[in-house]
Amino acid sequence: MESWGFSVDHSARLWKYLYLGLAGSFEQLPEIPARVRSRLAAETRIGALRVSLETESNDGFTRKFLLGLPDGGAIETVLMRFTGRATACVSSQVGCAMGCVFCATGQMGFRRHLAAGEIVSQVVHAARALRAREPRRLRNVVLMGMGEPLHNYDAVMRAVDIMRDPGGLGLGAERITLSTVGVVPGIRRMADEARPIHLAVSLHSANQEERAAMVPAARRWPLDELMDACRHFCATLNRRIFFEWTLIAGRNDTADHAHAVGRLIRGLPAQVNLIPLNPTAGFSGAPSRTEAARRFQGILTRDYGLPSTVRQRRGIDIAAGCGQLAAPAGTPVNRTAPTAPGS
Ligand code: SF4
Repeated sequence: MESWGFSVDHSARLWKYLYLGLAGSFEQLPEIPARVRSRLAAETRIGALRVSLETESNDGFTRKFLLGLPDGGAIETVLMRFTGRATACVSSQVGCAMGCVFCATGQMGFRRHLAAGEIVSQVVHAARALRAREPRRLRNVVLMGMGEPLHNYDAVMRAVDIMRDPGGLGLGAERITLSTVGVVPGIRRMADEARPIHLAVSLHSANQEERAAMVPAARRWPLDELMDACRHFCATLNRRIFFEWTLIAGRNDTADHAHAVGRLIRGLPAQVNLIPLNPTAGFSGAPSRTEAARRFQGILTRDYGLPSTVRQRRGIDIAAGCGQLAAPAGTPVNRTAPTAPGS
């Protein structure tokens, strides 16, 4: 932009307006010379995504956005509001190649990776949506939307770096969580590059065959290799790791299953997040009953000293829960809808 007469100072101001001020148009950049503003408006655009559809859960705390991409594809992003905090759940790919049987994204197959700007745009869009509702900043991001983040490693880490920039969105690394189905090379790379964000590994079973039946990627990265990578992550970074366990009635929620996972991860600085299955069209399993979830949690606590949570079910009525995100092929994109800023 040097040829535009755009100084380093101008760049810093532009960055601040886009990512700190969450500006939606170049008219809102008063400290940038008018000639540069009009050139920016003529030759560039803020954000790569267009809002196609917004839905809100009955309780008003979860909002889902269907966002159209420039190539006609679409992704979903979710904003969840809790007492005292808000979290954006963002996508890293259009579809997913991992094929987890209970996941709507896996059921749609892989279309393409998202660029770093398309990932950050979702965060900016969620932050703007939050600001429109209440006077606070978005502080938490989970990379748990559509796609396997470690299958799109470079773009995801570039996006994380942008999210963390203190002159912009300024998200603390401890407030960003990346969820993986167990892409072993990616976990090892995160450890070796000392990536400071949280890591959550979707486990779902402590038995290789049983796990591979639910998570086909487990055939490529078997449980023993995955656990080695998790131990490497914890030891290298001296950090806790999260394990996610989708609770499916009768399939992985018995006392035996709880003991198996307890034995598998005992000794690791770990927390287990139990997630009662959310319904999807392509999977017939049912969520575990509350008593089964409590029994599972009790065994982890009492017999293995493992901290655990049972995730609140949020946004199920608008298919915004874990494993429910999907954007069908040919999703119509409203070209007149406002632009989601950020990239
Ligand atoms: S659960 Fe995650 S990794 Fe598995 S198919 Fe769905 S989006 Fe992909």
